[in-house]
This record gives sequence, C-alpha cells and structure tokens, in this order.
Amino acid sequence: MKTIGLLGGMSWESSLEYYRLLNEGVKARLGGLHSAWIVMVSVDFAEVEAMQSAGRWDDAARFMIEAALRVELGGADFLVIATNTMHRLADAVQAEISIPLLHIADATAGPIRAQGLRTVGLLGTRYTMEGDFYRGRLEERHRLRVLTPDAAARETVHRIIYDELVLGDIRPASREAYRAIIADLVRAGAEGIILGCTEIGLLVRPEDSPVPLFDTTALHAAAAVDWALEDV
Ligand code: GLU
Repeated sequence: MKTIGLLGGMSWESSLEYYRLLNEGVKARLGGLHSAWIVMVSVDFAEVEAMQSAGRWDDAARFMIEAALRVELGGADFLVIATNTMHRLADAVQAEISIPLLHIADATAGPIRAQGLRTVGLLGTRYTMEGDFYRGRLEERHRLRVLTPDAAARETVHRIIYDELVLGDIRPASREAYRAIIADLVRAGAEGIILGCTEIGLLVRPEDSPVPLFDTTALHAAAAVDWALEDV
C-alpha cells in the first residue's frame, strides 16, 4: 500500500471527512483491520484565509510549498491537498516537491465523464468559481461545460462557506439557499453539480438536488484510495 500524503486543515472540518473516507475506503477494499497509511500535515486555517482575502497568493504559495515538503519528508508517496481553493497553487507546489500531486479537479472530472455528463454547475469559494485554475482545467483538460451562479449567488455561496461551514456551523436556512442556487443552475442546463468546496458536502445532500451531485471531498478521497492500493 502506498502512503497517502494529506495536506489539510483547510478547513479541519473537511479534513476530518477525508481522514474518515480514506480509512473507510481502504477497509472496504482490504477488509478486516486494514486502514490507510497516511502522513498528515494540518495547517492553521486563519493564516490561510488571511493570505487569500488579502490576495497574498505569493505568500500562500510559499506556505503551501513548505507544508507540502513536510508531507513529503514524512514519507508520503503522493500528495492530496484537501481543499479546492488552494489548488490555485497546485502547479507551484508540484514544481517544488518530488512526489506527484493528485489534483482534485481531475479526481472529480473522471466520474462526471464516466456518467456521460457534459454540462455541470460549479459551487465553491469565490476563488474557485471565478478563477481559471479550476474551471479552466475542467473545460480544457476534461472537455466539460462549466456553469457558475450569478454574482449575487456566488457571494452567498462564498459567504456561507467562510462564515459557517469552515466553522462547523450547519444551518437549515443556508441549505435552502444552496438548494435554490442549485435549482437555478439546473434550469440553466446543468446536468450535475460539483460541490467544489470540501465543506459543502457537510451541508448539501443528494436529496437537495434534482441532478447528481459530485462531492469533491468524497471523489478526491476515493481517487486517493485507488492510487494507494493500485499495486495491492
Ligand atoms: N475547503 C474549501 C475548498 O475546498 C475552502 C477553504 C479554503 O479556502 O481552502 O475550497
């Protein structure tokens, strides 16, 4: 079994899900007392959020590289960055480490294409919905058509993530807001919805959407288990 390198804490609410899913995934495949080999580095999310909101992406890149190097030094065979947003720096991180990175957008696009879907709605932080690093990869590398909510809805999705979900604050009213935004995306043509923030799966469930949901946390963790067990 390969050792999974988990770079988390962004936020720890979703890293907890990754940790559970990685271990459950290995147990489901190998049975008995089996669990995952994991090296985990978990950072202080307040430092990360401060750099994001100030637009200090060069500092954030140095921060992520330093953390990823600690994962590598710990003996990981590959790196899982447990947040969509910080994949903005995936190329910068990959350039400075020797182990391969399992990109969250690739782990998500595979199952979408496997279901034969072409047009998807994307929910995530403002950085993920508006930047090119994520939707560009889905569009160019995976030939998906990506729809995002309008500006007011993007603000709502973003605010709920940072004010509530990363704090473990799960509110029915926010679930209703997400349901309405998902319904709008479906009306605009989305055949599936990417939960492109690793905490959204804590709030939104399959029954909240008329089309399939693609939860990046679950799909990223499943791809990591596949990779860890490929030679077993
Ligand atoms: N976990 C979130 C994501 O998947 C947001 C937190 C962050 O900014 O890293 O994008």
